[in-house]
Amino acid sequence: MAKKYYIGIDLGGTFIKGGVVDDTGAILFQDKVPTETEKGGEVVVQNIAGLVESLLTKSGLSKSEFVGVGMGVPGMIDSKTGCVVYSNNLKWKDFYIAEKLTALTGLPTKIANDANVAVLGEAKFGAAKGQETVVMLTLGTGVGGGVVIDGKMFEGNKSAGAELGHMVIVANGEQCTCGRKGCLEAYSSATALIRETRRAMEAHKDSKMWEIGGLDAVTGKTAFDYKSCDPYAKKVVDDYLFHLATGITNFANIFRPDVVLLGGGVCAQGDALIVPLQAQLERELYANTLGPRVPIKVAQLENSAGLLGAAALLM
Ligand SMILES: [Zn+2]
Repeated sequence: MAKKYYIGIDLGGTFIKGGVVDDTGAILFQDKVPTETEKGGEVVVQNIAGLVESLLTKSGLSKSEFVGVGMGVPGMIDSKTGCVVYSNNLKWKDFYIAEKLTALTGLPTKIANDANVAVLGEAKFGAAKGQETVVMLTLGTGVGGGVVIDGKMFEGNKSAGAELGHMVIVANGEQCTCGRKGCLEAYSSATALIRETRRAMEAHKDSKMWEIGGLDAVTGKTAFDYKSCDPYAKKVVDDYLFHLATGITNFANIFRPDVVLLGGGVCAQGDALIVPLQAQLERELYANTLGPRVPIKVAQLENSAGLLGAAALLM
């Protein structure tokens, strides 16, 4: 069977990562070069084109075997016109990067927001491979995420939609970075987990969690590490899981996805995270026993999600 090949690019503020990807999602070659953001957009485009050329050479394939270049870009993107409407990381405004790159490489170029592209990668080739409708939440400093519907990335106008972390789950609750109160991000980010762990320690000087040394030593693991021997740690974990499961159930009711994926450092907890979330989702999901199940899984691709999702923009 004749294979098709793609160049996937993950454009970051410091490095441009690129890879030759085939239609099965295998990364055949990959490389990275400095972005040189400070030299301006025209130089960055030339650096991307140089990386594309070197990947083409390494692959030993002819250019005609490539469908095109897909690229994830940080910021607000008009994927229809290939324009970076605004990017804080790259200091660009209304920069028509896709047509500039096509002029240099001779290959069709498609771009999209990098976070959305990473979710597309997981949906096509990662933990949600073969699934049509996927919701993903990334639990980090904030709560990011994305939505794939019927195999296609949902972006909203100028890719400004799918801000899943900013759904309010507690009206007038904890202050969120976005200005509202009670967002999912204010309860389910690693930042929120650390905040609640410190609060529990400060309120309970007899908490076993003080064994770690002090408040500065708290990480997103602390409460999970002590939950079986310290009731205060258990309460922090239980509250964290309750709020996260509330958010997941809301998205499950709206999209009824084939799968919900979770990414970020907290996922290292594995079953200690997934099993209680799944149990609450099954209890609370609308018309649960009458509808299809919504499994919760941990994302798989990590650093490759960006490259594979970028290539998938052309599939
Ligand atoms: Zn918010």
